[in-house]
Amino acid sequence: MKIKSTVTNLLYDFDAKGKVDEERYTCPECSAHRKKKSDKCFAWNTKDSIGYCHNCGASFYVFKPGEEKQYIVPVWKNLTELTDKAVKWLTGRMISQKTLNKMRVYSDFLWMPQHNKEVDVICFPFFFQDNLVNIKYRGPLKSFMLNSGSELIFYNQDAILNNTSIIIVEGEIDALSFIECGFDNVISVPNGANIKMEYFDTYHELFEDITKVYIAVDQDTKGIELRDELIRRIGAEKCFIVSFKDCKDANEYLIRYGSDFNDLIKDAIPVPVKGIVTIDAICADIHDLYISGVNPGKILNEPFDELIKWETGRLAIVSGIPSSGKSEFVDYIITKMNLLYGWRAGFFTPENFPLKYHYAKIFEKLIGKKFSSSVSSEMEFEMAIDHIKNNFFYIMNEDDCTVDTVIRTAKILVKTRGIKVLVIDPYNRLEHQFKDSETQYISRFLDKLSTFARMNDVLIFLIAHPRKMDKDNEGKLKVPTLYDINGSSNFYNKADYGFTVHRKTDKQNLLLNEVTVYWQKVKFKYLGNGGASELKYNFVNGRFQKDTNWDNTNWLVKSAEQKIINYTESQWEQREDAPY
Ligand SMILES: [Zn+2]
Repeated sequence: MKIKSTVTNLLYDFDAKGKVDEERYTCPECSAHRKKKSDKCFAWNTKDSIGYCHNCGASFYVFKPGEEKQYIVPVWKNLTELTDKAVKWLTGRMISQKTLNKMRVYSDFLWMPQHNKEVDVICFPFFFQDNLVNIKYRGPLKSFMLNSGSELIFYNQDAILNNTSIIIVEGEIDALSFIECGFDNVISVPNGANIKMEYFDTYHELFEDITKVYIAVDQDTKGIELRDELIRRIGAEKCFIVSFKDCKDANEYLIRYGSDFNDLIKDAIPVPVKGIVTIDAICADIHDLYISGVNPGKILNEPFDELIKWETGRLAIVSGIPSSGKSEFVDYIITKMNLLYGWRAGFFTPENFPLKYHYAKIFEKLIGKKFSSSVSSEMEFEMAIDHIKNNFFYIMNEDDCTVDTVIRTAKILVKTRGIKVLVIDPYNRLEHQFKDSETQYISRFLDKLSTFARMNDVLIFLIAHPRKMDKDNEGKLKVPTLYDINGSSNFYNKADYGFTVHRKTDKQNLLLNEVTVYWQKVKFKYLGNGGASELKYNFVNGRFQKDTNWDNTNWLVKSAEQKIINYTESQWEQREDAPY
């Protein structure tokens, strides 16, 4: 049978002997990367057909094609006791027994991967509509663990259903602090400042009836990132920012200033939607910039990293003559951004319809093989489809291809899927309605895209064909520049990034696999100085690289392996001062 890991989403062939209820095996996911390769860390429950690895903490379930993602539902042990040590620590943080009982916090003794043995833990159960969905375990030395393979939801998620205003914090202790102070309308993100919020895919609708959202997360770099992502997903118009003065978070504030939190909420600052920005509103950001400096932009582990680095909130304009591979190249860098940084993408790409052709292209880039049952396995097919389905989304309204419709749909994808990249391919397939001159129209059109990119923290790729194609003395097509698009210099002037993809031809003008990317514009110096990159195009899988030493490996497996290696090698930071 095929089993699926809840940590990496990879599929594995696995055959249980099925003789006893719990059997032990080596782990399909982590054993190959361990020192003790033969350690049977993987326990398979033959009765329920689920598995759990005691080394890497992954859960596994039997995979059936086409089935929705499955979650492990934790068993409610109905424990109510807290150990003396736990009570002492929690009351030291000003959380009373009453609040702990209300939120059904309890003690347990269980195995944690960070300690590799059974330890005392405090358990925070995550309920939604009276069902136990997940449990957060907090062990010694600040170790945390969520129940393996269980669904991620907000802590105290029911509060969203029962209120019209809601407070969002960054951890269970901060949520308990607000409850201690009489604010039951508080929820916590489940996994700290992690900004990959898959749970918004499922639960974004819960926020529709909420009129005010108070964001009360930590005041550090990670917290600011989390705050901005929450604003992006919920909508700036509803959001207010809570400031904890000189304290790091809600719990520190409770300990230092006591349980009157009314002023915190009263003094919350609305997120500036339009117009006036006060220095107050961006105070934490300015301080963070002062401490951490400018974020240097993301690199893609490519030969062109030196020339260009990437950040969201920008407009990239891409050109090239037909068949130059400009769409292929954009798909390629978006695939890399997705694998390296988890950036999801929305595509308006009518030329790739029917969609299966675009699927096939992305498949090849991910898996490294041709999209064909003769060369790739069923398992690779399932793996890629699952990944594409969760990371790439399509915008298509055949009756209405105006930029306003595309932007409106993209905005929905920001809220519901958290896309960080938007592709418009190509410019001339949008419905353009000029009311004034074409140049003025293009200027306003590009401003609209730039504003959308900035306000929604999305990197936009706009692909545009050159209007005219000039030939050189030898009769070969010249490399177009951004100035050749529709004859408007605005395409160059208004781009944050601008580049042209050009494919070389032989004497008979047949296309070769040699591609030059001309990085014509990188607006901000800290993101690179531009230049040209000579690349080779791999006909097998549509990847670009610097030489013909082809990499045809499966990148989904590779990126998952990296995750596991990072995990198994991570060193546990010892914190003497924190018993929990
Ligand atoms: Zn494992």
